[in-house]
Order: sequence, then C-alpha cells, then structure tokens
Amino acid sequence: MIVFDNVGKSFGSHRVLDGIDLHIHAGEKIVLLGPSGSGKSTLLRTINALETIDEGHITVLGRTLPGSKTEEQQLRRDVGMVFQNFNLFPHMSVLDNVCLAQIQARKRPRAEAEATAMDLLAKVGMAHKAKAFPMQLSGGQQQRVAIARALALRPQIMLFDEPTSALDPEMVSEVLQVMNAIAAQGMTMVVVTHEMDFARKVADRVVFMDHGRILEQAPPAAFFSHPRTDRARAFLAHVVRERAKTGKLTPLDRELAQVVAGNPSA
Ligand code: ADP
Ligand code: MG
Repeated sequence: MIVFDNVGKSFGSHRVLDGIDLHIHAGEKIVLLGPSGSGKSTLLRTINALETIDEGHITVLGRTLPGSKTEEQQLRRDVGMVFQNFNLFPHMSVLDNVCLAQIQARKRPRAEAEATAMDLLAKVGMAHKAKAFPMQLSGGQQQRVAIARALALRPQIMLFDEPTSALDPEMVSEVLQVMNAIAAQGMTMVVVTHEMDFARKVADRVVFMDHGRILEQAPPAAFFSHPRTDRARAFLAHVVRERAKTGKLTPLDRELAQVVAGNPSA
C-alpha cells in the first residue's frame, strides 16, 4: 500500500529524511516513534504529498510520488490525516466541518454528505454536537470530530500525527478508543504517538526513527522488551521519565522502566 524506496529530504543543509526504506501492507498498523525532530511528521506528510521529497520514490496506493498535481490531489482524498491540533474550521459547525470536503472534493450532494457526516459523528460519539462550533467543544471532542472529518472521504489509509499530544490527560482515552475502533475495522494506519499502550495493543509494527533514519522496525512486543539500539533505549527511558512526571505510570511504563534501567545511555 505504501512503499518508500531510499527516500531522502533536506530542509536547506539539514537532512530530515535519510535513506528511508519502508513497506507498509494493506491493513497494517504502524506506530512511528522517535525523539522530537527525528523526522516523523515529515515522513508522515510525504505519504499524502504534503511534503515533497528530494531523493528516491514513494508509491502510495499504486501512485508514484512525486506525481502530477491532479494525482496528488486524488491521493489526498484516499489518505486521511489527523493532526495534533485538530485544524477544524472555527467558523463552521461540526456538521459543516465534516461535510465540506465531501461536497468539494468528492462532489457529493449535500444531503448525502450530511447523512454520511451524521453516521460518522455517531460513531465517534459526537452526533449530539453536530450544530455546535469547534470552540464550544473540548479538545478531545474536537479531535473526534477531526477524525470523523478525515473518515468522511472514505480513505484507504489514515495518518495520525500525535493526535493526543495536545489533549488534557482525561481526554486522551476517548480519542484512543475511536482510533482503536478504526483499527479494528481493518484500516491501514500510520500513527505517530507517544502512547506506548496504544502502540503495544494496536501496532503490528513499531518503526523507530532518529535523525531522519529508521533505526529499528519490530513488532511491539519485541521492540519494547528488547530495543536493539542505544538510541531506542534512551528514547524509551525519556518517555518513561515524562510519564513518571504525570504520576500515572501504566504497567507497561513500569515494564519499560525495567527494560531501560541500568543502561548507561538511558
Ligand atoms: P518530528 O515530527 O519527529 O518531531 P519533524 O519531521 O517535524 O520531526 O522535523 C524534522 C526536522 O526538520 C526538525 O529538525 C525540524 O526542525 C525540521 N523541519 C521540519 N519542517 C521544516 C520546515 N518546513 N523548514 C525547515 N525545517 C523544518
Ligand atoms: Mg512531529
């Protein structure tokens, strides 16, 4: 479904993606991990052609990037994306936010767009807020609407870029539940998240990046119990330390703490 073949990208002299080779199969759930600045968002954004690449090729749903403008527009309809900061249109109701792209990009009649929107809003538990405006909603509610909006185009792939990082802790689980439900329906998903429990439960494969390179790829059980590189161990130690500050360590966090304990680079 998604193939990266020796992909490179630089911003000026800064190499942000470096020799990326990655194959993602239909229905697979990938969790992309790595320290801040390692290139996760950039990698994600190349999948739906929001970022161009300098070297190599990316094939997504049979289309090779870089492609023509038209091909890239088509691609963005088939690849839904959810961002950290929801990016809902503030002057539009929840319902209109979920209808807009359906009407403009898919040319659906309004009645059909609204029916689809209401169906999806019900699935994310937000049908009762269809008439509300984004600023009247909590962050978790806005993010669930953003997910419904992305699903409204019936994408074949869903990309999530730290979808819970901007949320208050009590709202994280409502968004993760929606993502779990999408995963259970067989969607191909690429998710950047620091929610290690989600990675452990939902991911088929964890991809660990640092400095624009993929350093490790493994099923979550293997990655979390036996990270192979010092960089991955240091990263996991950092995540556990951050979690410890919130005072809410999960059993997995404790396990991770043990895995990384005693490692001098952690
Ligand atoms: P991550 O999502 O892993 O934190 P990013 O992909 O956002 O990393 O960024 C990787 C690197 O590229 C960072 O050093 C960042 O500062 C840089 N970068 C990202 N976008 C741009 C841009 N538009 N212009 C210049 N540098 C950028
Ligand atoms: Mg990022």
